[in-house]
Amino acid sequence: MASQQETDQQVNEGAAVDGEGFFVDTEECEARELAHRERGTSRPITVVGNPVLHKECADVTEFDDKLASLIDDMFASQRTAEGVGLAANQIGVDLKVFVYDCPDDEGNRHVGYVVNPVLAELPPEQRVLDDSNEGCLSVPTAYAPLARPDHAVVSGQDMHGNPIKVRGSGYFARCLQHETDHVYGYLYIDRLSKRDRKDALRQMAEGTPRYPVVANG
Ligand SMILES: [Zn+2]
Repeated sequence: MASQQETDQQVNEGAAVDGEGFFVDTEECEARELAHRERGTSRPITVVGNPVLHKECADVTEFDDKLASLIDDMFASQRTAEGVGLAANQIGVDLKVFVYDCPDDEGNRHVGYVVNPVLAELPPEQRVLDDSNEGCLSVPTAYAPLARPDHAVVSGQDMHGNPIKVRGSGYFARCLQHETDHVYGYLYIDRLSKRDRKDALRQMAEGTPRYPVVANG
């Protein structure tokens, strides 16, 4: 119905920014996530070994309806897999886009997406490492501790090509770094020691994913 569409449109256009120019991703979370996911179609998740996960994705250059539906499909897929973040190559699409629906350590929910994300280099005095556990939908059922800075800033574009910036701390900072890594062809297990990586792959081999995955050739 037209009125519903109008509502969805308004919800998604609400790209409010705070005083420092960061996207306000903690408001209208439920409505924004629902609007994307209801328009989208859930797709199976690619897993470690699938070539699309192991190379840098292409830059997004067309800010059209196809990009908007990709983002909707990514929200739908993220929900099916019960993920807190998802990159486009995790549903087999070779483009630099990620979506997220992730809590921070204060319990605030963050919902959003970034097109053509770039992670900012942190000044050394801001690099406080956090070595919590990390997991990935593309390495199903495996977890490993991984030290990462507890604060992250990602810049990129929205679906219309406008510049956006997102920042996070704690678990959400981990998510932003993890998802940006994905679009450059890196999985978190690539950052582990040889031994921890092997252990993560063993956990994956022994477990059964709770969501549809794409079988590797
Ligand atoms: Zn991942």
